[in-house]
Amino acid sequence: MDALTTHPWDGGPDDDDKPHEECGVVGVWGSADAAALTALGLHALQHRGQEAAGIVSAEAGGIFHAHKGRGLVGDNFGDAAVIAGLPGRAALGHNRYATTGETALRNVQPLYADFEFGGLAVAHNGNLTNAHTLKRALVRRGCLFQSTTDSEVFVHLIAISLYSTVTDRLIDALKQVQGAYSLVALHDGALLGARDPLGVRPLVIGRLAGGGPNGAYVLASETCALDIVGAEFVRDVEPGEIVVIDEAGLRSLKPFGVKPSRFCIFEYIYFARPDSTVEGTPVYDTRKRIGAELSRESNVPADVVVPVPDSGVPAAMGYAAESGLPYELGIIRNHYVGRTFIEPTDQIRHLGVKLKHSANRAVIEGKRVVLVDDSIVRGTTSRKIVEMVRAAGASEVHMRISSPPTTHSCFYGIDTPERSKLLAAKHDVEEMARIIGADSLAFISLDGLYRALGRPGRDAANPGYCDACFTGDYAIPLVDLQQNAAPSLSLLQANGQ
Ligand code: SF4
Repeated sequence: MDALTTHPWDGGPDDDDKPHEECGVVGVWGSADAAALTALGLHALQHRGQEAAGIVSAEAGGIFHAHKGRGLVGDNFGDAAVIAGLPGRAALGHNRYATTGETALRNVQPLYADFEFGGLAVAHNGNLTNAHTLKRALVRRGCLFQSTTDSEVFVHLIAISLYSTVTDRLIDALKQVQGAYSLVALHDGALLGARDPLGVRPLVIGRLAGGGPNGAYVLASETCALDIVGAEFVRDVEPGEIVVIDEAGLRSLKPFGVKPSRFCIFEYIYFARPDSTVEGTPVYDTRKRIGAELSRESNVPADVVVPVPDSGVPAAMGYAAESGLPYELGIIRNHYVGRTFIEPTDQIRHLGVKLKHSANRAVIEGKRVVLVDDSIVRGTTSRKIVEMVRAAGASEVHMRISSPPTTHSCFYGIDTPERSKLLAAKHDVEEMARIIGADSLAFISLDGLYRALGRPGRDAANPGYCDACFTGDYAIPLVDLQQNAAPSLSLLQANGQ
């Protein structure tokens, strides 16, 4: 968690103190503009990864083209000549988030390999919890790893599979991996999409107009990527489902049976773009309901509700509407914090909050302020924001958080600090309030969060969501961790994780 990469709509160095999504994927099948649409989709998913981007396209006859680079999608695919160099009616793209400033180009996805059946490109979002265990076994069998991404585990498992079709080889590979993933793969004959059996990470299907009798399709991490390319939302890929899109259209395979879903609840709170719809529910509406629930649970006498922009905005709107307090933009965000400042030096870290946020004294001075934010990870940003609001003349500062306390690390594809660095893992709420300098602090309760999602509360026997970072209830076995299967030093250095 040392990188200072951010949600683009948050866009500043102090987001170091946020959990980070680790990757977005887009696949397009059946369009003459496949690479351009993929680039647009990746642009809409920029919040899921800002360190690198890549696209592989496929022409009829099994000819593949690739372009990858460090930086934002616009940095890599803003040039028409680059898109022109990616011909074909199918393409696959990936945004990568990495935990260090240096992202080895060999790790930038999609990964591509030649097999006996032809070329195959693979990209995924998520994390395999038995990747290192599998890697060791594969290396012992003679597999030579070129990168340190989990995606390469898929590639080698597909390569050594004894099944004949690509789809059967993929199923064979998926049966051996454990973890949370959304995977998209492209070969000469089809675009494939898969979600892990518990559906922790998101993947949606969209349909483009035209594309011949059996249609043109888009697979993407979120619906905002469908909107930007004008694709109609069809449905979510279901947990454990594999979709095969080819000249015959789309078909669905469910080789893992049906298990209760454990979709990442943090997607609703923070990760997904607010204009996306997740599992049939608009993220924006859900965040407002979470804010309303937060107000019912922990209302406090105050004069004004102020969001920590931008991710705290919908929850603050919900809080204000429910409490009857005025909603004001008491913190103004600078949208133009360039990457020039995104350097992990102590001096820049110290400046972080001021580079990105400034207090709007006109609506804060002399007021009792309710500050609404989505999470507290280390607490460093919250402390600076509280300090800034007080310096602008607030008479009281009450912090309200639209997630339960983050007490555990995520091993399912979200970059969080190790547990010892999580403020809520070491301190109770009262101590946390003192550390961040707030007059009071409250988090939404776990049951309150589930109520905002339309459930009566959390059903411990069948929560329906992954909430392990709030509960420690890890639904997918942490195989590598339990077996102490750390990567070798060289892999560790290259991966930076
Ligand atoms: Fe999402 Fe938290 Fe589960 Fe990770 S541990 S997948 S962030 S809910």
